[in-house]
Amino acid sequence: MDLLLRRARFMDGSLQDIAIRDGRIRDMGPDLPGPAREIVDVKGRLVIPAFVDAHTHLEKALVGVAGGAASLEEAILAFARLYNTLTREDVQARAGKVLEMAIGHGTGTLRSHVTVVPEIGLVALEALLELKEKYSPFIDLQLVAMPAGVDYDLDDATLKLLEEAARLGVDALGGAPHLSRDPFDSIDKTFDLAEKYGLPVDFHVDEHDEPDVRTLEYLAEKTRERGWAGRVVAGHCCALAAVPDDVAARVIEKVREARISIITLPSCNLYLMGRKDRQPVRRGVTRVRELLEAGVNVAYASDNIRDPFRPFGNADMLEEALITAQVLQMGLPRELETVLKMGTYNAAAATGLGEDYGLRPGARADLVVLEAESPAEAVITQAAKAYVFKGGRLVARGRKDTELYFKVE
Ligand SMILES: [Zn+2]
Repeated sequence: MDLLLRRARFMDGSLQDIAIRDGRIRDMGPDLPGPAREIVDVKGRLVIPAFVDAHTHLEKALVGVAGGAASLEEAILAFARLYNTLTREDVQARAGKVLEMAIGHGTGTLRSHVTVVPEIGLVALEALLELKEKYSPFIDLQLVAMPAGVDYDLDDATLKLLEEAARLGVDALGGAPHLSRDPFDSIDKTFDLAEKYGLPVDFHVDEHDEPDVRTLEYLAEKTRERGWAGRVVAGHCCALAAVPDDVAARVIEKVREARISIITLPSCNLYLMGRKDRQPVRRGVTRVRELLEAGVNVAYASDNIRDPFRPFGNADMLEEALITAQVLQMGLPRELETVLKMGTYNAAAATGLGEDYGLRPGARADLVVLEAESPAEAVITQAAKAYVFKGGRLVARGRKDTELYFKVE
């Protein structure tokens, strides 16, 4: 073996060794025999498969607040004013920094949406495709080409660009149909193009507070009609929280039947939604509990990191886990385990990692050793990432380094 992790604590509390060869887990169990080129005793710390950040925006990340924005629409316009400043070098410098932050925090796969509009062309996408290659030994970067704007038109010029993006090699096609002039037409056209190139789709859906979930319902219906079950991701779905329970139940059932994965983005929604409300201010976070109870695959993700959409964020899925747990009021130990799984297993399922992912023989050895013994402790204490492995190779070590310079007598 190349690497043997001794005494790894699993989420169920059991202690097992993990044997790794050629970048994959080969064997698991208590007291595995050696030999191994390297043996690391993790001393009962929690070991999880690497985090999967299933929804980010790397070409926007770290541009700063750009004057500030008091709503989603204002944030979109604030970023649009920066379009002419985007260069390959600038995008790569900021995105590279975020990827390194993410790697340090134990993210093994990160999906970024990338703006593809005539004003930008393919500059951002090409810059990120290069980074994808460059960082491939350390993190898997997935790219989703998306048209964007307020009241945008999925016209021929934009469709042509999306098609070029598909040819260049993106991992999915996306968009924000509810912000387009004709949401249903946008969904249809994107499905057509994705079908032509054999790509899955990943949309921003109903990112608003109005009690109107027709876009999500239409997406679920079309997913079923076209036989796309399991290949469609819907991010945000904020409006699902604004409709009455019976409407929500009807749409959630359609989402379940269509096997659409839902990505909730609580940190960004809490910042941008409900801006027109007086008290009480709505949170804008979708119905995660009901979706999970119905059997829908739900993950959480970072979304925007230090840009006009959200001034905060550290590309740290454990930080997002805490925010998610707080806003969803999921604080019991088993609920915190569910939250941790939403940022690992569920996110892996949403992004199509399949058999390559997980803690089992045959899976890629993308692992994080946390300074905690249980999922609840990891989330609550914001545990340091003691060891981060990508394909069995150590790519980061984290430490808690606060020292107190006093002693209570
Ligand atoms: Zn987004």
